[in-house]
Amino acid sequence: MDTPRSLQFDDVYFSAHDGPGETIYVFLDGNDLPARWQGVDHFTIAETGFGTGLNFLLAWELFDRTAQKGAFLDFISVEKFPLTADFIRSGLSPWAQRLEPYLSNMLAQYPMQVPGFHRIVFDNRVALTLVFGDANAVLPEVEASVDAWFLDGFTPAKNPDMWTEGVFAQMARLSHSATTFSTFTAAGFVKRGLMAAGFAVEKKRGFGPKRDMLAGHFDGPKKPRRKPMKKILIHGAGLAGCSAAYALKLYGFDPVLYDPNGIAAGASGNPVGIINPRFTAYRSAESDFYTAAFAQSVRTFPNLSDCEYRRCGSLHLAMDEEKQKRFTHTKEHWQWEDAHMRYLDPAQASDVAGVAISKPALYLPDSGRINPRSLCQFYARDVAMAREPTGDYDAHIFASGAQMKEIPVHTVRGQITFVESNKISTGIKTNLCYGGYISAPMNGMHVIGSTFQKWLKETDSIAQDDADNINKLTTSIPGLGEFKVTGQRAALRTASQDRFPIVGRMEEGERFVSTAHGSHGIVSSLGGAHLLADYVRGGPLSLGKSTVNALSLSRFFEREQRKAGKKN
Ligand code: SAM
Repeated sequence: MDTPRSLQFDDVYFSAHDGPGETIYVFLDGNDLPARWQGVDHFTIAETGFGTGLNFLLAWELFDRTAQKGAFLDFISVEKFPLTADFIRSGLSPWAQRLEPYLSNMLAQYPMQVPGFHRIVFDNRVALTLVFGDANAVLPEVEASVDAWFLDGFTPAKNPDMWTEGVFAQMARLSHSATTFSTFTAAGFVKRGLMAAGFAVEKKRGFGPKRDMLAGHFDGPKKPRRKPMKKILIHGAGLAGCSAAYALKLYGFDPVLYDPNGIAAGASGNPVGIINPRFTAYRSAESDFYTAAFAQSVRTFPNLSDCEYRRCGSLHLAMDEEKQKRFTHTKEHWQWEDAHMRYLDPAQASDVAGVAISKPALYLPDSGRINPRSLCQFYARDVAMAREPTGDYDAHIFASGAQMKEIPVHTVRGQITFVESNKISTGIKTNLCYGGYISAPMNGMHVIGSTFQKWLKETDSIAQDDADNINKLTTSIPGLGEFKVTGQRAALRTASQDRFPIVGRMEEGERFVSTAHGSHGIVSSLGGAHLLADYVRGGPLSLGKSTVNALSLSRFFEREQRKAGKKN
């Protein structure tokens, strides 16, 4: 097998002569690993150019073998041209045996090819933060305290865009006085650039036939003290609270849940929900959140048992011209590969749907359906439930919907309707969304949703709501025949003024919030959960800084202050 090569840069991903040998010599030895992580409980590596993940895999293997019990490795890597899992598998095949079981574990969870942040946690011990995008654009979004840098872009002469002043300045921002770096190159402009950014740079003997390489350390402020919290109480056992408990457990914590109404009593207790991001025409901090959370969800759900998960895809019908414009923009600006998002004409949409569709539609093949109530139960499986909301805790996470007085949220009632599938609707192969939605059939049933009633506070079902749900379906997609209602469920979702979730720190102190997940809670609660876990453990953030700001509670107060400032 030939060494994998990039046609674009006319360069190889790793040494043709000994890939692992080069990684060990240049990056691991070059940063004095494993000595550096002896006796520490947390270590962070950041890399430019993830490629096949060979450096990551060997760092992980070394950490596993040599770091103290209970220690945690964060590995952040940026990659502008993500390879597919298949390409990686075949590229690394010469060393497959020595890279197992790490290689298989990584490939099993390798993210879909959509831009932005992807967080994967392995064995309660290692977190990979893979950021798909240009290093110059995405490093400013990273929040972390990096202990060691692996600079592994293609050779600077062929890929100068990766070795810029901007990249070096970001490295400096994320470094401290004990941070080291190493790289295979000894290019003069790289050396000068790193020095100008505040790094002490040394030339060393290169690997194999290469004469020189560079390594060094940062001359900067001391590493900020990390004080992870240990005992965490989560208030609220809906999707927001249960997913936070699940995420914390992935990072090795033992959180406690408190909810006087039990698990999934509110809107999270629906028996069917569809897995979708919320679409916007343009890419933004908000859309990046839905992208990351959606990718996280479709990676996570197939591994969960008893959640009635099914990857059936979703079609989002462009019902009018405005929507057609919006969805074409979404496809263009979100930059998801065709494998994950396509804009279909009515004939193609009908093929995918299994029934006649007269509108163009945005198609998400990775989307699907799940049972949110079972999902909450799965998330909370091994989590202790508290009887009282008080006790000796280091931190509190508030995930109790609209019950928090100090958070600017409101409720939106939603009723969903269960119907028997009929002769025609049995043929539906994907979820269909048209403002409302109908799920693909399962066990001879569909769920049709949902009403949006901001003004209603009761959760008793309303017969007219079922009629409205069905009516919206049959006027949007004519020809589906008659439906027999078999049941319904009404609940109150929580939403914020700007219809974006609120996830983050409540104020200085150890109080955090996750709420206002609205009608995308299956996806957004899980995206938020990893961010909360990062705050608790004092680790790098799983989302970009702009997205973290957009999610923060303080955005409302800042907006008010800006308004007040304008008036004065
Ligand atoms: N570390 C990798 C491994 O273990 O397989 C090998 C990295 S390869 C030599 C360099 C990588 O940098 C390629 O995957 C390439 O796509 C990526 N790259 C090139 N220019 C980039 C840029 N401006 N921003 C982010 N990644 C870039």
